[in-house]
Amino acid sequence: MITPMRRNEYRIVTTDSEKQSNWRTEISEAFRTPLELLTYLGLVDSELGTKADSEQEFKMLVPRSFAAKMKAGDPNDPLLRQVLPTCQERETGEEFSKDPLEEWPDDQATEGLLQKYRGRALLMPTAACAINCRYCFRRHFPHAPPTKESLHKTLEAIRSDKTLKEIILSGGDPLILRDESLFSVIDTLSSIPHVKRIRIHTRIPTVLPSRITENFIDKLESHQAEIIMVTHINHPNELDAETDSVLRKLGQTGIQLLNQTVLLKGINDRTETLVELSEQLFSQGILPYYLHLSDKVEGTQHLCVSVETARKIFRGMLRELPGYLVPRLVAEEPGMSSKTLII
Ligand code: SF4
Repeated sequence: MITPMRRNEYRIVTTDSEKQSNWRTEISEAFRTPLELLTYLGLVDSELGTKADSEQEFKMLVPRSFAAKMKAGDPNDPLLRQVLPTCQERETGEEFSKDPLEEWPDDQATEGLLQKYRGRALLMPTAACAINCRYCFRRHFPHAPPTKESLHKTLEAIRSDKTLKEIILSGGDPLILRDESLFSVIDTLSSIPHVKRIRIHTRIPTVLPSRITENFIDKLESHQAEIIMVTHINHPNELDAETDSVLRKLGQTGIQLLNQTVLLKGINDRTETLVELSEQLFSQGILPYYLHLSDKVEGTQHLCVSVETARKIFRGMLRELPGYLVPRLVAEEPGMSSKTLII
């Protein structure tokens, strides 16, 4: 069946089994240059068009389903500003660096494994994402896609370290892996007695909802592991009827759904925006967990919000929301044994 979409585009409406093979096609058809995306939004001749930068080393990648949530003709669209490379990324102050959290290489005991905090370690089974966010703190990370052998070695390192109670799957975005690969990692982790919880960090439910297939839901539902999924949603416009449907299905599998948001200048740095985000997250079955100050990574200076502004916004949220809908305002600092709570 063919249904009309915005801006005279058409989308084939598929059954879920067809979707299972289509989400990878959707990635291959994603917007990969500012020109393509700005043309689609009718902004190619705008002032923003002159600021777009197609030469960035960290390339643009935007699934069409995410672009469809942007407002045509609006250069300040909060979803567009998260993903469009601009020449502002070339302005970098002294306090900005490629590795602001000093994550590499010292913390990498084993390839693809990072241990920063006691009892928890971060496993990066892929370097790929469904979208490239301009503020990404790992945009310069020297990711090497793990091989079967290196992944096996990493999983064995987790097995032999009995202090590890929780493994965080990050990346990249772990949900970009095919079900067989992802669940093979989850199966191995859940066979390790001291690993009590598996936490999955992902941006996929809002940027590529078609990835959350019935097959994926079934596998999650039948799994015995204690799984926590931390979605990464920054603006209420990322949520719509389709995300509502996939998030509800995820919630019905029994996994815990939490969300983290990065505070971004000109995108979500208003109390009203974040209050609305918390309300909408809750209505789609997710609890707000963290509101992060962005890390001082080279190329992201124009998106950083000051601590003073963050506090002001946060106080507004405390006034407007019940406590359970207020995320913790945090920053990450290198060498600290936990995230730093900002109050
Ligand atoms: S999805 Fe996450 S890891 Fe990937 S580019 Fe965005 S912020 Fe970075």
